[in-house]
Amino acid sequence: MALSVEIIKMAQSILNEKGHNAGDIDGIAGDSTAAALNKVNDLPKSWSLEKKITGLIQLYAKGRGIDPGDIDGLWGQRTQEAYDQLKHQLLFGHTEDPWRPEETTITTNPNNWPVQTQAAMNAFYGPAMATGNPNLTSMNLPYPMVIAWDPTKTITKITCHKKVKDSIIKVLTNVFDEYGIEKIRALRLHYFGGCFNYRLMRGGTQLSTHSWGIALDFDPENNQLKWGRDRALFAKPDYIKWWECWEKEGWVSLGRQRNYDWMHVQAAKLNS
Ligand SMILES: [Zn+2]
Repeated sequence: MALSVEIIKMAQSILNEKGHNAGDIDGIAGDSTAAALNKVNDLPKSWSLEKKITGLIQLYAKGRGIDPGDIDGLWGQRTQEAYDQLKHQLLFGHTEDPWRPEETTITTNPNNWPVQTQAAMNAFYGPAMATGNPNLTSMNLPYPMVIAWDPTKTITKITCHKKVKDSIIKVLTNVFDEYGIEKIRALRLHYFGGCFNYRLMRGGTQLSTHSWGIALDFDPENNQLKWGRDRALFAKPDYIKWWECWEKEGWVSLGRQRNYDWMHVQAAKLNS
C-alpha cells in the first residue's frame, strides 16, 4: 500500500521530535525524510522507505504504551489500530496531561437521583432484587438498537426501573434529534450492552447500579472497563453531545467523571 500524506506527516513530526531533522512536515517522503529515517537505530537500513516509515510509527506507538504487534515495517490491522490510537493521543495530548474531569461536564440533577450508596439507592429505588422486582418495567426505545454482543438482533424495548424510564426516553429522544439515525448508527450509539442485571460491581463487594435497572451500557467492545480516554471510542469529541443529553437529565458517566468504563451511564451520583 502507498502510505497516506497524513501518515508521512506523522512520521516527519516524530523524526523532528527525536531531533533527526526531517525538514518540513509536508507529507512528502523526500530526501530529508529518508536521511532522517536512516538515523533511527532500530530501523534496518535495508528496508524500503515505506517500511521504515511504518516501522517508525510502530516503534513510536510502542514507546507510548500502544501495542502495534511486531515491529516489521508492514502496515497491517494492528498497525492501523495503533496508528488510530496514536493519532488520538497526539491530538488530545492525553499522555502528557494528567487526566482531569471534562470541564464541560454538566452536574445538574433535575430528577434528584440519589448518591451511589446501597442505603441511598435502596431508599430511592427500593431494594435491588435478583428476580421479580415490581419496580422494573419494560420501555419502548425511541429508536431501534442492536444487542452489542449479537448485532444481528434488533431490539425495540428494554427493561429498566420505573423511576428512570421517562428520563431515558427523554435522553434518547434528544439523542435522536441531535444526531439522527444515520449518525447514531455510524457512532454505534445503538449498540446496547445491557441495563438491568443483578450483580456485584466488577472487582467489588457492592451491588452494581445495574442491579436496580438504573444503569445502561453501550458498545462495550469499544469502551472496555479499564480503557481510558486514549482508547475508549465514546471519549472522542463526536460523543460530547451524547453525554450532554444524559448529563442534562442528571445521569453520570463514569468515563466523563472518572475516565474508565466509558460504556456505562447511571442514574446515581458519585460519592465525591
Ligand atoms: Zn455498566
